[in-house]
Amino acid sequence: MPQKIVTANWKMNLTLPEANTLISEVTNILKDEKRNSAEVIFAVPFVYVQYFSSFLKGQPFAIAAQNCSEYEKGAYTGEISAQMLASVGATWVIVGHSERRLYYHETYRIVGEKIQRALEAGLKVIFCCGETLEIRDKNEHFEFVKNQLEGSLAEITAEQMKNIVIAYEPVWAIGTGKNATPEQAQEMHAVIRNYLKQKFGSQIAQDTSILYGGSVNAQNAKTLFACQDVDGGLVGGASLKSREFAEIVKSYN
Ligand code: PEP
Repeated sequence: MPQKIVTANWKMNLTLPEANTLISEVTNILKDEKRNSAEVIFAVPFVYVQYFSSFLKGQPFAIAAQNCSEYEKGAYTGEISAQMLASVGATWVIVGHSERRLYYHETYRIVGEKIQRALEAGLKVIFCCGETLEIRDKNEHFEFVKNQLEGSLAEITAEQMKNIVIAYEPVWAIGTGKNATPEQAQEMHAVIRNYLKQKFGSQIAQDTSILYGGSVNAQNAKTLFACQDVDGGLVGGASLKSREFAEIVKSYN
């Protein structure tokens, strides 16, 4: 069975005092829950990774970085390596978010290298994929997402895949308030699971968590998460509001 996971992606938002207030509120609300069946991950800006890893020590919440370098170490001024992130307490890293592909020109190859560096450093990976509206309108979305997967997972082994989660995030749904319908999410997640089955076998396909991301909120989370192949969410805007994000997590209780 795949682990249910809800990840907050704060992106480039919140000062440290604001972030402190938010994370304290969310964790306070959730610690009183009798049953917390989803793993909760906070993907925080690099500069807060160490602080919040210490802050959450001993609590059932994990810290992710939102990106890492494709290089192991060396003369790459301004970059942050996967090893550095692991050394300050991150246990997860998001790789291949559409904003990084678009604004920082990350290719399939670069995304694949980042996945390798992250796994080598002992981090677990949330690997994002998803089509633009233009591609969906041409009815090429299934092919496109399969190519994204193959383009960056080609060298990944079944053993490595145990530490990778897929996040399907249609670009047209990110930050737009227009989420995929449960039917649209389910059909793409089924395609992704089938790709995993063909490449890595049935067991890996059954055990890999496939998250949905794109305008998830407290209203739509329950129906999206109820889809057979949707194993949780990657949440941007709504993760900046403590009650709303906690409600999304509670969709699993
Ligand atoms: C995201 O950026 O990963 C995301 C899903 O954003 P939002 O929830 O705001 O659409």
